[in-house]
Amino acid sequence: MKYDIQKLRKSLKAKLSAARYEHTLSVSFTAVALAMRYGYNLEKAELAGLLHDCAKGFDDETMIQKCQKKKVPLTEEELNAPAVIHAKLGAVLAKDKYEIEDEEILDAIRYHTTGRENMTLLDKIIYVADYIEPRRNKAPHLDELRKLAFIDLDEALFQIMKNTLEYLESKGGSIDSMSERAYQYYKEQRESKAVNVQTGI
Ligand code: FE
Ligand code: FE
Repeated sequence: MKYDIQKLRKSLKAKLSAARYEHTLSVSFTAVALAMRYGYNLEKAELAGLLHDCAKGFDDETMIQKCQKKKVPLTEEELNAPAVIHAKLGAVLAKDKYEIEDEEILDAIRYHTTGRENMTLLDKIIYVADYIEPRRNKAPHLDELRKLAFIDLDEALFQIMKNTLEYLESKGGSIDSMSERAYQYYKEQRESKAVNVQTGI
């Protein structure tokens, strides 16, 4: 898999706001660093990072229209909380416009906002990189989470899901059922891991 990264960057720069493009680069570099730490393909991590928000430059209405045009079905839930749609549409654009065929990359883009049950290593890398990248400064516990991400990726993933859901709840916003299921899945995994540590199994 050899992509022209510079060409891809140029094209994304033209599509995204300056701040969103900075975020995109930061996620891409953070994803590469995590891939180094956890033994994942660096190029795939870089590409997924660069493309994860490729549909973020459109307003809600345009995103919905593009989904209709591309025959991407949207749930009632997604129409009510369109922020999630950029991930789904992003995966479609990554394939159609940016010619990414790799399903792992497309999935990592598709699930970067909600997470999902049983995430792949690349799903986790992009989800976590999106939250801890160096340009972020508003989320709580960023210093600890940045460190934790390089020590225990699953624990960082769980903590970020927990923070994100708590934040959405405090705002009274609607929570996507996919995010809720992903959180419950990792909560149970974490609990069973703790039991295994205690019993030595
Ligand atoms: Fe995003
Ligand atoms: Fe992002």
